[in-house]
Amino acid sequence: MILVAHSFYLRRDGKQFERSRPYAPLATLLAAAILREQGHAVALFDATFEPCVESFTTCLQAEAPKVVLLIEDNFNYLTKMCTEDRRADALHMVAAARRAGARVAVNGPDASDNPRLYLDAGADAVMTGEGELGAAAIVDALERGLPLDKVPGLILCDGQGGLRHTPPRLQHQALDALPFPAWDLVDAQAYRETWTRAHGRLSWNMAASRGCPYACNWCAKPTFGRRYTQRSAASIAEEMARLKHAVAPDHVWFADDIFGMTEDWIAAFAEEVLRRDACIPFMMQSRANLITEPVAAALARAGAEEVWLGVESGSQRILDAMDKGTQIESVRTATRTLRRHGIRSGWFLQLGYPPEDWEDILLTRDLLRDERPDEIGVSVSYPLPGTVFHARVVAELGARRNWRDTDELAMLFQGTFDTAFYRLVRDALHADVDTGMVDELRWHDLAQRADAHRSASPLRMELRA
Ligand code: SF4
Repeated sequence: MILVAHSFYLRRDGKQFERSRPYAPLATLLAAAILREQGHAVALFDATFEPCVESFTTCLQAEAPKVVLLIEDNFNYLTKMCTEDRRADALHMVAAARRAGARVAVNGPDASDNPRLYLDAGADAVMTGEGELGAAAIVDALERGLPLDKVPGLILCDGQGGLRHTPPRLQHQALDALPFPAWDLVDAQAYRETWTRAHGRLSWNMAASRGCPYACNWCAKPTFGRRYTQRSAASIAEEMARLKHAVAPDHVWFADDIFGMTEDWIAAFAEEVLRRDACIPFMMQSRANLITEPVAAALARAGAEEVWLGVESGSQRILDAMDKGTQIESVRTATRTLRRHGIRSGWFLQLGYPPEDWEDILLTRDLLRDERPDEIGVSVSYPLPGTVFHARVVAELGARRNWRDTDELAMLFQGTFDTAFYRLVRDALHADVDTGMVDELRWHDLAQRADAHRSASPLRMELRA
């Protein structure tokens, strides 16, 4: 028996628990489907609704697996955040599996960034890249007692206190050949109840591609790298048609960094879903520069309800500092184009990216006031290993390098303002969007705080003198 698992316990993350928008662990379910296709007996530990990590121990006793694969859902942006609580749970699970006598392999961005932690906790190997695509090879080696150094894409202990990398796994391009995720292994009813209780409908996740070819310099790409590999439009439409029968969600979230990428693919996707009567209203992520008139028209035909854009900032100099590769003007055009086609827009915004100052924050606020997106998601800049941004601020990082949970929004480097100030700005931006009203009093108070902060900053006092 192979036990596949992930470490996201919804109750452990206050913000996500409150949001009540849990998604099934897509990469974990793909790994299960791939292993089944190879003839393995597979069980799933879906941590999502479990009360705490102790329930994993109960599962180990019940399943008595020979091999445990902890494969985090690399398609979900929450996984990329590598929070401290989640790491603690994952390490606890590794140690419990080892104590239960199983061989253990781990995959996820945090394990790739900090392999020593996971190997010390008892893992036999850390699987780099797309864990589901390496699952069959490592299971085969573990079951047959073969040395792991012949399995590509692993990080192992070298037996002398160091680490050893096996050769990289070849990138898998034929995504259409993969099975559909093993949806039957999760308790779809539990997802349905959680979603409908909070939002009146069930949303489910899919992924049409892997990776992103753009180079925003704070964006970590520990799993897919800087590439874009896409499934065919027909394969995605077919998965939607099967999903309609197997799970019957009311809504789909395409978890791709960028869904579609080209006009031709999106037009083909629209035709394929219509031909199969497979339309399910959906939400997706894209970039402002990719939203053209024909793209928005095809997305609307295919059932797009909401498109999230990585807008980040209303200040062009900040976008340029991020190597974002977009112009403020294209954000305006994309938002208006989506609206003309009846598609809601969501903006991801980021506060604190150097050298952002108060005037840049005001430009972001004013862009919001001008264009009025339907929703926003606000974060502060989060230096993740392997990025240009991380390299720029690494000297300023303290002992803490990760957020405790997804709501912490802590400044981990020396920003222009502090965490408390950015939280107030986040709240003010949300208040503007949520109420559709401008709370001038709140912004006036923020301006005064910004000014006070400037006066108090030793560096600025030095410059003024
Ligand atoms: S477009 Fe999005 S996914 Fe791609 S590099 Fe930029 S932030 Fe990352």
